[in-house]
Amino acid sequence: MNLRQEREELEKIMLKDPRSWSVNSKGRDYPDTPCDLRTCYQRDRDRILHCKSFRRMKHKTQVFIAPEGDHYRTRLTHTLEVSQIARTIARSLRLNEDLVEAIALGHDIGHTPFGHAGERVLQRLCRQGFSHYEQGVRVVEKLENGKGLNLTWEVRNGIASHSMSRHPATEEGKVVRLADKIAYINHDIDDALRGQIIQESDLPREPLRVLGYSFKERIDRMIHNVISTSLQEETVTMSPETEQAMMELRASMFQNVYLDSEAKKEEKKAEQLIESLFLKMMEDPSWLPVSAQMKLSRQEEEREVLVCDYIASMSDNYAMRVYRDMFMPRGWDVL
Ligand code: MG
Repeated sequence: MNLRQEREELEKIMLKDPRSWSVNSKGRDYPDTPCDLRTCYQRDRDRILHCKSFRRMKHKTQVFIAPEGDHYRTRLTHTLEVSQIARTIARSLRLNEDLVEAIALGHDIGHTPFGHAGERVLQRLCRQGFSHYEQGVRVVEKLENGKGLNLTWEVRNGIASHSMSRHPATEEGKVVRLADKIAYINHDIDDALRGQIIQESDLPREPLRVLGYSFKERIDRMIHNVISTSLQEETVTMSPETEQAMMELRASMFQNVYLDSEAKKEEKKAEQLIESLFLKMMEDPSWLPVSAQMKLSRQEEEREVLVCDYIASMSDNYAMRVYRDMFMPRGWDVL
């Protein structure tokens, strides 16, 4: 018996539900020789962690565009916070922590530069539509390395269904969906306070009474609530009272931070930038990478998808650099 098989046997003792066991995964699209050390989910986690799309999240917007301050969250640090919250919940519920970690690390991998502002533009311009969660699945199935990462079905399902309107097929996917919300509501409040976009007194009183008056207290209560409620209900969920308080806090964030605030003023420019890149690349595909140019077809719609894939993959910084190269004259630098 190798170390992976030992780990698989341990899972059968440690994890409550056989559906969480890695030996019961629905598997990968293409057959792959199993690793001698890691279960399929541990391997998926590593594949995501080592891929370029993952590293690019360090320069993608969470709330603040290309933040100058070192303490603001980016898409990458958000992802790490989601992963840690999700793992704590999964371990307490005796779910598969490796599966949860793989989904969490990959959940936002399809995000565009400039966060939801970038996403809105691509949604509007691309006839085939665009959403970061479907793009996340495209990244891991097709785009990364030109052939995708060949991840297990459970991880891909978790990435595809982490958004509010979706229903993950696994309990582990449900953990990440909740952990994502817990993470962003709390750290976005923290960042908005740091950036003086809001004051403590702007937060609605009733949800604070339920959830607590500090970042630490709120995150702790939400995690405890998910664990105790899920143990009672035998499915991953939050109590209605806590969920309502969380959603009220979220609504106040939409009102004061996400939709209309000082921090959002730059978004208009970000939207124009993305739109300009899109239109220029549609008109002149020589701006696309060579690998995409080789796939060009006369079909407008297919070209839109290629352009969308390229723009969505960019970090904020890279998108700004391409924009400068496209539209700004460069100074003569030969001495
Ligand atoms: Mg997220």
